[in-house]
Parts: sequence; C-alpha cells; structure tokens
Amino acid sequence: MTDVIVVGGGVAGLVAARDLAKGGVHVTLLEADAALGGMVQKHTLAGIDLDLAAESFATRGDHVRRLAIELGLGNELVEPDKRGAWVMTKDRRVAPLPAAGLLGIPSTPMAADVIAVVGTSGAVRAQMDSLLPATVGAKAATLGELVRRRMGQQVLDDLVVPVAGGVHSTHPDQLDLDRVVPGLRAALLREGSLARAVVAQRAKAPAGSAVGGIRGGISRLVDELAADMETYHVDVRLGMRAVRIDAHEVDAAPTDPATGRPGPVERLHADAVLSTVADPGRQADERVDGIELVTLVVDQPELDAAPRGTGMLVHPDASGIGAKALTHATVKWAWLADAAGGRHVLRLSYALAPRDGSDAHGAGSALAVDPSSELAASAVEDAAALLGVPLRAEEHLVAADRVRWRAPDRRGADLAAGVVGIGEVSVGRGLAGVVAASRTSAERILDD
Ligand SMILES: Cc1cc2nc3c(=O)[nH]c(=O)nc-3n(C[C@H](O)[C@H](O)[C@H](O)COP(=O)(O)OP(=O)(O)OC[C@H]3O[C@@H](n4cnc5c(N)ncnc54)[C@H](O)[C@@H]3O)c2cc1C
Repeated sequence: MTDVIVVGGGVAGLVAARDLAKGGVHVTLLEADAALGGMVQKHTLAGIDLDLAAESFATRGDHVRRLAIELGLGNELVEPDKRGAWVMTKDRRVAPLPAAGLLGIPSTPMAADVIAVVGTSGAVRAQMDSLLPATVGAKAATLGELVRRRMGQQVLDDLVVPVAGGVHSTHPDQLDLDRVVPGLRAALLREGSLARAVVAQRAKAPAGSAVGGIRGGISRLVDELAADMETYHVDVRLGMRAVRIDAHEVDAAPTDPATGRPGPVERLHADAVLSTVADPGRQADERVDGIELVTLVVDQPELDAAPRGTGMLVHPDASGIGAKALTHATVKWAWLADAAGGRHVLRLSYALAPRDGSDAHGAGSALAVDPSSELAASAVEDAAALLGVPLRAEEHLVAADRVRWRAPDRRGADLAAGVVGIGEVSVGRGLAGVVAASRTSAERILDD
C-alpha cells in the first residue's frame, strides 16, 4: 500500500487526505493545532453558531458545491441574499456595488450603477477602455496597474480598491494579476477591451450567484470531512507540528497544548508528501499580514430593512472609519436570520499592521469582547456610520467577539523539491481554488 503524508488539516489537507484514502492510499495527516479545519472554523456568539473566517465559497468551477454534495450536504447549499453589497468610497459616498463586475472592474463603465459610484468623469475615463488598443496594460504585473491603465484611477480607487482589497486584504497594486484573476490578461487580448474581458470571464462562471453558502455555516464542510477521516481510516495526528518537510520524509513534533513547547521529534516516511504549509525551515523573516474580525450581535429593528444590503466594502482611507468591510450576515444568509431570532449579526473586518514572524500562520480563536470596552464602542460606531442607522453599544449591543488571522504574504510556498504544494500558500486564497488543487493533486498521485 502506498503511504502518503499530508501536512496541515485545513480544508486543503482534509480534501486531499480524503480523496487519497478513498483511492486506497494509507494517509497520515499531521495537524499542528488541537482541532481540524484551519481557517474554516466556527464560534458561538449570543448562542448563535457562526463561521469564524470563511463564510461563503466562490461558485466558479463548481468545485465546492460538488464536494459538498459528495459530503451529503447537497440539500444544505444556499445562495446569499440577492440585494448584494454596497461600497463606501474614500470620500465616504455610499452606493450599491455595480452589478456584473469582476473584483470591482465594471463590465459596462457607463451603466447608471457605475456612474453612481465613480461619477460621470470617472465613468467616461473608464469607457475609454473600449477605444484603447488591446495591448495597453496587457503586460501589467498587478491588478492595480491593469485597471489604472485601461479604466483610470477613479475606477481603481472607488471600486477595485474596496472590492479586491476586501477579498484579498491587499491593495490591487500588490495583487499579482494572473494569480487573482487567471485568464483575464488573455481575455483582454482576445476581446480587445477590459470591459469585454470581464464579460467573457463572468460568462464562464455558472449561472446564478457568484458565491454560495451552506445552511448552518461553511464549517459544516469540515465536520463532514473530519468524519470521513474515520470512515476512510486516515491516521489523523492532531497536535503534531511538522518541523522539516521533505519529498519522502517529515520530521514532526508533538506540541504541548498548555505551553506550546515542542516534544521529541518523530521521523515519518512516505512515498509522497503533500503540504499545505510552507517548509518550516524556510519561512523566517517573512512579512505577515493580518486581519481582525469583530462580530457584533445587535438588537436594532431598523436593521431589518437591510439598509446596505448584505454589507459594505470600504475604501481603506475612508475618513473616520476603521473597518475595511462589514458583512450584514443576517441579511446575507436567511438561515442565519432564522437562527438569530430577530437580532442582527454584523461582522467588521480590520486590517492589522504587518509584522514579522513565522509563528502566526494558522487558526485564530475567538475572544469575547466586553460590550462596555472601547473596542466594542468603536466597532459599533463604525457599524452605525457604515449602515446609516443609529447604534450605541450600551443600548443595542447584545454580544461581541473578535478573532485575529495572520497569514504569510507569499506568492507560492517555498517547499523542498518533490513536496507537492497544496492549499492557500501554494494556490492562493479561497476555498474554490484550494479544493480544486487538492483534488487534482490527489488524482495525480492515485494515477501514478
Ligand atoms: C478571515 C478570512 C475570511 C475568509 N473568507 C473566505 C470566504 O468567504 N470564502 C473563501 O472561499 N475563502 C475564504 N477565506 C480563505 C479560505 O478560508 C482559505 O483559503 C482556506 O480555508 C485555506 O485552507 P488551507 O487548508 O490551505 O489552509 P489552512 O486552513 O490555513 O490550513 C492549514 C493547516 O495547517 C496547520 N499547520 C500549520 N503549520 C503546520 C505545521 N508546521 N505542521 C502541521 N500543521 C500545520 C494549521 O494549523 C492549519 O490547520 C478566508 C480566510 C480568512 C482568514
């Protein structure tokens, strides 16, 4: 029997381990944490179960939906509320996010909903995209450069910065074009304009909503995957941190959950090694970006009207607002509104200052926030400003918590030769891509 080691028990590792074990491979799954799931976890606030990080998945490629069906969650797949999200520009103008865009890039620059955000002059400049030769911007390294050259600074600032920044926690000038929108460059050259390229890219997505969810939360995927680890006899080693990862050998050490101190190193051998984490020996001195999510449960009937649809994406320099996005989760997901019994769940995201260090990748855990604290007060103040509804912590806040996520800012994991890189560090952010890549890698190993 073939032996495979999978390093990391997030969604990427779980999916690969499941497919391999189903195919008859003996799999050992190493997870440094005490629980499986990585960035897909849940927390409970005011008695409501909520996703702690990922709360939806891109329907692109149909990978997550198919996996969910295989895992018996087919009847639990849901679509978000159709009202969609809003955007707040740098000068604090608010408007619904234009329909039919791609990471904020409009497909019809002169559409009324685009003009409402970028103004007439911004839209006219963006429309020039249709007159420029296809080669203009076609060599752009970043998403920001492409949009600036084709559609101008206003569209970049008012739409792409808040939208792409909200998804990737980074300014578009730092986002590698081919990584965040694979195929867009080729579509530009083929279609002759960026707007038409956006239309072409969107046409490739399945009909219906661009994102999907699961009734009860995305974490149900992990519950089912974890159950399958038993069904398919995967040897799951929780609390085991890989300290050296090679093509056929992994050194791992148990971690004392109380002190975090590593125990004696154990050497494991395998025919193949798949890793969702960068080589621990090679990840010193990297920049680590972070995001803090503050979740509020509030009691304010004026929010029933969904004043900003499913939430807001915020320009990072919008004056007086600390949050860069707000999800009105009880509007976005009907199942959550039912679970919340008339209360509202708001999730605000804050960018954390980058810091150096290699300790921080992996799961965060939720910490309760005292409703009378300064943090609660400023999050409630942000929510009020973003939603345009009066909110005061002492009057409306039922409960709050926060979680910090940090992830290395890297373009592909630095792995030893022969190690198969899977997961976010190798293939980029988002469950759709992560699931697809794990399945492809598992299939290749099974074919071999
Ligand atoms: C706040 C936030 C919101 C998000 N929202 C969405 C969303 O709505 N939709 C979406 O599609 N995606 C979203 N994502 C991204 C998505 O969650 C991730 O891309 C995906 O879950 C990554 O899975 P992974 O298995 O590659 O990594 P991880 O989930 O990070 O799993 C890696 C695992 O490896 C473990 N590990 C680390 N080092 C070692 C070691 N040395 N030895 C052994 N184990 C180790 C970690 O503990 C962890 O469990 C979000 C991410 C964040 C942070």
